[in-house]
Amino acid sequence: RERYYSMMIRARIPGGRLNASQYLEFDNIADTYGNGTLRITTRQTFQVHGILKENVKSTLQHLHQVLITTLGGCGDQVRNIICCGNPLENGFRKQIHSDLHKMVSQFSAKTNAYHEIWLDGERWKSEEDLPEEEPLYGEIYLPRKFKIGFTVEGDNCVDIYANDLGIVAHPDPAEEKVEGYTLLVGGGMGRTASIPDTYPRLATPLCFVTPEELAQVSMEIVKIQRDFGNRNDRRYSRFKYLLDERGISWFQEELENRVGYRLASPRQLVWLSGSDHLGWHSLKDDQWYLGLFVRNGRIMDTHDMRLKSVLKELLETYEFDIQLTSQQNLLLVGIHSQQRDEVEKKLRNAGVHLPVDYSQAVLHSMACPALPTCGLATAESERVFPEVMERMEKLLAETGLSEISLPIAIRMTGCPNGCARPYIADIAFVGRTPGKYDIFLGGGILGNQLNMRVLELVPIEKLDEVLRPVLQDYAETAATHETFGAYCHRVGLDGLRAKMEAAVIG
Ligand code: SF4
Repeated sequence: RERYYSMMIRARIPGGRLNASQYLEFDNIADTYGNGTLRITTRQTFQVHGILKENVKSTLQHLHQVLITTLGGCGDQVRNIICCGNPLENGFRKQIHSDLHKMVSQFSAKTNAYHEIWLDGERWKSEEDLPEEEPLYGEIYLPRKFKIGFTVEGDNCVDIYANDLGIVAHPDPAEEKVEGYTLLVGGGMGRTASIPDTYPRLATPLCFVTPEELAQVSMEIVKIQRDFGNRNDRRYSRFKYLLDERGISWFQEELENRVGYRLASPRQLVWLSGSDHLGWHSLKDDQWYLGLFVRNGRIMDTHDMRLKSVLKELLETYEFDIQLTSQQNLLLVGIHSQQRDEVEKKLRNAGVHLPVDYSQAVLHSMACPALPTCGLATAESERVFPEVMERMEKLLAETGLSEISLPIAIRMTGCPNGCARPYIADIAFVGRTPGKYDIFLGGGILGNQLNMRVLELVPIEKLDEVLRPVLQDYAETAATHETFGAYCHRVGLDGLRAKMEAAVIG
């Protein structure tokens, strides 16, 4: 008999929106084929872990029945396109979702192989309708994955600068339609610890396009990476390295040549929030949405919190829509006023906390899955993060920083790959070897500033204590409205390191 291979399945859920039946199918799959949990990812989709190889086909067939695919969830192609999770339904937001879905369609691989292999040979297109070759991806696809995100101006809940292509929507004055989009190019978090010239990069504002121009311009951007990206060494094959190697002026010229006109300058971007739309919010008329904080994005039942069961019960009863967020949280969408008390009661009875029960630090924290399910992990992340956060919350309380107006975002990953986007957090713990982490300081919840590596290989049990002198100094010396990230850049790498090294030695 063949050995048992355990797999992970990652779906493609454009913009993170699911109806109740689709959510319930994921819930069913987690129990039938997976490890009984669902993992919301930072790209607004679900991963299901623990699926045995022999059950992969059945899993994909179940998903197909509710119109969910995994094509584009992984691989060297355009990945799941993310979007600001705010589910408001004005004309402006509807147009963004419509433009997003057009892009999903234009960037989807046109292959029939997925259906033939996984869906019992059922062809989803007739022979005549099939293209002779994969029109965008050709035979060898892209050099690496390509990440695209949408958000609205002012709201950076998706970490727009971490995308290969970031698309920022600007509304008309009545918020009835999209006036245009500012495009940012070349963001990406991944780096390799042993190779110093790999690095995280914030996307660069490139141009402003009208909604009518968006599809063509974005297509040509992806094609430039396809045609010029590094195919010799995967460690340098993300779009950001192409941009830095050839320069942004070269890129702009190449893009203008391809689209056939001069591109307009990008609009000035001002960010007001990076929070994740948690808590109760009015949706329309008599309807609400409730954003729930999901620790580590993991939907499961524990002895004191039956999150998975209560979500299933709520969706079977009320058929709310679900909005996944790129901070690994979940919104229940379409709750009528008269259902609010009942929803809260059911959640509370199941031991589920509402966002008001958590500290700001916890609500803005994120960890990647790492061990035991990620093959690239060199250290723990999700499994140790709650305990690390408990110590960090204590430290923030002791230094008087629990309730500051721009909260301190703390993130952890099990390797430098950066799936939880650590390099734009105020404080990041990036796993290097079992039990040891590099500490990065100086990002922020607005997601528009990179942090700096201050200390290397700090033992997990010291992560909070080495930060005490820095947090204390910030509490005592920060100017009004100076964020922790801004403070870190004011003090500088050497200043931060000196304070923290004293704590390590001490
Ligand atoms: Fe991503 Fe690394 Fe975390 Fe794995 S361990 S999920 S590759 S950051």
